[in-house]
Amino acid sequence: MKKILVTGGAGFLGSHLCERLLNDGNEVICLDNYFTGSKRNIMHLMGNPYFEVIRHDVTAPFFIEVDQIYNLACPASPIHYQYNPVKTVKTSVMGAINMLGLAKRIHARILQTSTSEVYGDPNVHPQPEEYWGHVNPIGVRSCYDEGKRCAETLFFDYHRQNNVDIKVVRIFNTYGPHMHPNDGRVVSNFIIQALKGEDITIYGSGEQTRSFCYCSDLIEGLIRMMNTADGITGPINLGNPNEFTINQLAELVIELTGSKSRIVHVAAASDDPQQRQPVITKAKEILNWEPTVQLREGLQKTIEYFIRLNG
Ligand code: NAD
Ligand code: UDP
Repeated sequence: MKKILVTGGAGFLGSHLCERLLNDGNEVICLDNYFTGSKRNIMHLMGNPYFEVIRHDVTAPFFIEVDQIYNLACPASPIHYQYNPVKTVKTSVMGAINMLGLAKRIHARILQTSTSEVYGDPNVHPQPEEYWGHVNPIGVRSCYDEGKRCAETLFFDYHRQNNVDIKVVRIFNTYGPHMHPNDGRVVSNFIIQALKGEDITIYGSGEQTRSFCYCSDLIEGLIRMMNTADGITGPINLGNPNEFTINQLAELVIELTGSKSRIVHVAAASDDPQQRQPVITKAKEILNWEPTVQLREGLQKTIEYFIRLNG
């Protein structure tokens, strides 16, 4: 049994990770400030004597003895990370410093959930880990993109300078149950609009692409990465390489929900990356990992979740 800290553990991915780690027989400490996370996501774990929840903000130092740290704390949806952009940078950068400082002090292994956003609006397609990205440093997405890039820098500097045992993954668009109904990301927005019969709002032409990974696949990838041999640091892309336009996603959601919603095009989002698809050769080779749940099946499970949630 390992003792494992999950920051951002009450969020969408964090809650699935806590559950999986508990099911695997570990002791889990979930740390969250509930900015975008919710107690509802972890309520079903509360009775487990090996599960502990702590309200804490990662911008402040935190001390505990654990074997592993998964650092997920950071709002991930554009509307939430742009709500208080200075706080978003602090969460990524000071959160990384505080968690890396802890890992250094207690000799814990630490995994960072970085993002495909480090590639910005990419002019290399699909995106391999070697690509350094095309990021606007002063735009509305920069607080997230540059915050995550700086966090990666800190991870590698703590590794080089202090020998901290780091693992870095770059997550591409992941969706599934436990996304907050007001999360604002495209999959939850479209499903909720479709279920309510409201207009489905496509930002811009809808010809921009994303590659959507189902949450259970992603969690499997995170755990495999955390448990790789010493010296394997990443960064490693984790995502589903099947690429769709946002128009295709909207049509699929309408089909699967049987909704009468209309599709409407509204103003494009600022600095919206036009295409995104992971190269997952490294994940396949190093982690023996690839996604198993394709979009149609994953959307069905997510739609069922939102139907249950709305009673
Ligand atoms: P989420 O918003 O559901 O989860 C983030 C969690 O972090 C929430 O529970 C939130 O309350 C918590 N949090 C935010 N700021 C905090 C702070 N200062 N102190 C403590 N807790 C704080 O988002 P998610 O999709 O579950 O993302 C989890 C991680 O994965 C994030 O770091 C995100 O950047 C990364 N990621 C996710 C995706 C994706 O598609 N889901 C893609 C790339 C990267
Ligand atoms: N998007 C959209 N309608 C929405 C929400 C998002 O058309 O209601 C688009 C958005 O402009 C982007 C894509 O869907 O091109 C993915 O957006 P999301 O916020 O989910 O993630 P990210 O942009 O961070 O990949």
